[in-house]
Amino acid sequence: MSVQKEYETVKELLTNYLEERKFRKTPERYAILEEIYKIDEHFDIDYLYNLFKKKHFSVSKATIYNTLELLMEAGLVRKHQFGKVQAFYEKSYFNKNHDHIIMLDDFEIIEFCDPRIDEIKNDFEEAMDIEIESHSLYFYARKKKVDNKK
Ligand SMILES: [Zn+2]
Repeated sequence: MSVQKEYETVKELLTNYLEERKFRKTPERYAILEEIYKIDEHFDIDYLYNLFKKKHFSVSKATIYNTLELLMEAGLVRKHQFGKVQAFYEKSYFNKNHDHIIMLDDFEIIEFCDPRIDEIKNDFEEAMDIEIESHSLYFYARKKKVDNKK
């Protein structure tokens, strides 16, 4: 699916979400959604802020933050706490459920998808008679040191 097609789809979802709750359909909300769906990486608020600044489209960090919270509620964005400080976000509507490995030395984020995690989830649901709505799993890792003694 093209970026434009994807945006059309999520735009409609956002419109429905805003209309259902009688929230205002501000141009900022749509502009932020559109930019997010062009980004293939994880990003933070500063990244979006600078992006809009470069385009001379003025959006405050508070507006970006509030819009991201709203888009999370609408199921269009996922939030991550990879490190100790700022939160990272990623578009979530078209991308498959995945988990993350955070490399502590250079802060590289590696995404992975392992069906065994779904199996664990299903087992727990069955055994405990529950429905798991979501999960978050982060591995914090370092490259193994080369052993020179061998
Ligand atoms: Zn991710």
